Amino acid sequence: MIKAWNFGAGPSMLPSEVMAKAQQEFTDFHGLGIGIVEMSHRSAEYTAVAREAESLLRELLQIPDDYAVLFEQGGGRGQFAAVPLNLLPQGGHADYFVTGHWSRCAYKECAERYGKAILHECSVKDKDGRWCIDYSKMEVTPGAAYAYACLNETVNGIEMFELPDTGDVPLVVDMSSNILSRPIDVSRFGAIIFGAQKHVAPSGLTITIVRRSLLGRARQYCPSVLDWTVLDQHESMYNTPCTFSWYMAGLDFKWIKSMGGVAAMEERNKAKAQLLYSFMDEHPFYHLPIAASCRSRMNCVFTLKDERLNAEFLQQAAAEHLIGLKGHKVLGGMRASIYNAMPLEGVQVLADFLARFAAAHQ
Ligand SMILES: *Cc1c(COP(=O)(O)O)cnc(C)c1O
Repeated sequence: MIKAWNFGAGPSMLPSEVMAKAQQEFTDFHGLGIGIVEMSHRSAEYTAVAREAESLLRELLQIPDDYAVLFEQGGGRGQFAAVPLNLLPQGGHADYFVTGHWSRCAYKECAERYGKAILHECSVKDKDGRWCIDYSKMEVTPGAAYAYACLNETVNGIEMFELPDTGDVPLVVDMSSNILSRPIDVSRFGAIIFGAQKHVAPSGLTITIVRRSLLGRARQYCPSVLDWTVLDQHESMYNTPCTFSWYMAGLDFKWIKSMGGVAAMEERNKAKAQLLYSFMDEHPFYHLPIAASCRSRMNCVFTLKDERLNAEFLQQAAAEHLIGLKGHKVLGGMRASIYNAMPLEGVQVLADFLARFAAAHQ
């Protein structure tokens, strides 16, 4: 079997140990004679799988007891609706700190359907023409129901390493593509949402971590399956959850724990990002559009200075089993997603390719 290095942004590569374990349990789970996707979500065996995944996540992120952890469907975009439906009262308003594609989508979902969303453009170009985050623009307006931000913009490759001071206004964040990549203080947030398919599990699962004092505020017409209070009351089994993805998330959490937890992940991720960025900073053949202080450790966005070489670049990369490097359709260029599962070795293989491709085209 040829091993490809998968730099796709999501669904993305998962740790090989996790894939191997899932393969084994796919057809026969723990000697029951049935596979993991064939069992009732209410069976004792599956319930144990589900609860273990939750407790591992709680342990890894040190989630305080007064936070609910909900396992849902509907993806990141489902949560773009769930956030206002659960937190924005009729006639209220919310602040949206926009730093890229996904926070803009979340803003639009709220503004066009549910109520008053106040747009704060928070990414600006610095003196070198590179995008960076202006945290001083992240100011809450009085009486806001919540303030919203995306801590890692998967498309743009821009990551927030600081948090705005929102005072008493709950800060709601999308961490779809950087959850578990570094330690965070959950108590700083009103809610954290993330689609699992960016780097935790296959698609079909979305997780919400929400402070319990924020429950019980959903609009009357909020669909029950998006109502965090309903989900909490039913331990995320109000309707049939995505059992396979929930199970896979549990395997991934166990893997992270075995690797030393999120602090160890952060060290690994720093080294990987450093390797790519420092190479491209030095090399005039490549261009980095994001300022050094906010470059994503998860999604390394870059362009070739001569964009006429794009197709050839992607073709040659694929021939060397480096796949998923094409940038998002709204931005073009290139993107190497180097999530938790990507080992340093894979990043080194990519860096070597970048050097060879540049040398061949000077
Ligand atoms: C991919 C992504 C989304 C959208 O997720 P879907 O599950 O496709 O709706 C939202 N936010 C971020 C940060 C993402 O990377």
